[in-house]
Amino acid sequence: MSGLPATLGEALARARGRIAQGDARILLREASGAGLAQLVAFPERALPPEAAARFLAWLARREAGEPVAHLLGEREFYGRRFRVSAATLIPRPDTELLVTLACERLAALAEPAVLDLGTGSGAIAISIALECPGARVSAVDFSAEALAVARANASALGARVTCLHGSWFAPVGAARYACIVSNPPYIAAADPHLAQGDLRFEPLTALASGVDGLDDIRHIVAGAAAHLAPRGWLLLEHGHDQAAAVRRLLDAQGYAGVASWRDLAGIERVTGGHLA
Ligand code: GLN
Repeated sequence: MSGLPATLGEALARARGRIAQGDARILLREASGAGLAQLVAFPERALPPEAAARFLAWLARREAGEPVAHLLGEREFYGRRFRVSAATLIPRPDTELLVTLACERLAALAEPAVLDLGTGSGAIAISIALECPGARVSAVDFSAEALAVARANASALGARVTCLHGSWFAPVGAARYACIVSNPPYIAAADPHLAQGDLRFEPLTALASGVDGLDDIRHIVAGAAAHLAPRGWLLLEHGHDQAAAVRRLLDAQGYAGVASWRDLAGIERVTGGHLA
């Protein structure tokens, strides 16, 4: 087969065996403007040459390994579309748990101050700001490029989020928060997954954190109490085998209500506790 695919079905056939079927459908949906259901139900529907060319270009880049989110420049998270770039982690569905847990704890509070450490695209901070309209959300990132993406997302989605440039607690001064959330880097530096799949295209500083992956989590747990309001919550995303270690870190700092919660795959993914 050469030339441009003339129909939706031909386009999907062109992708078969080269990239995952789910990825092919998403790319064709975005290239053609057709709905996902139409791609399956109406394979004979004509594909305009411009859309076909766009799809083929994405197909080649996806086949070479680039993440779908980078090809499209966006990823859906908590029901909204977020701009992403090579400077940010690509938001994961697992991380929606962190937003839900934070919002549950903020619901009873009037104008709770919330801090998101290492905000990246801003997905967590912005989702919390929009789901808990009373919340006053601040978002920190040490990457100015990432923070620019977070600012653009906040403004595109109409979220009120204060973006602060610096490393972890450095830019927040003496402020105290009702809830501190973070999806920090937590992969062990020697983990072979870092050299595989989509992770190769994401910033290493958003992924890897020391020999056991816990360097940044240890830093955050050590510093958080000084920035939490009375009964304030610290909620941290972590790796699939780190829940017990993170609970121990929180216990050692005297946190109350220490617990872990499972993600969509049933894996303990978020651990948290609150000041007594
Ligand atoms: N959850 C991501 C992964 O394992 C890692 C993100 C992170 O380190 N915060 O692919």
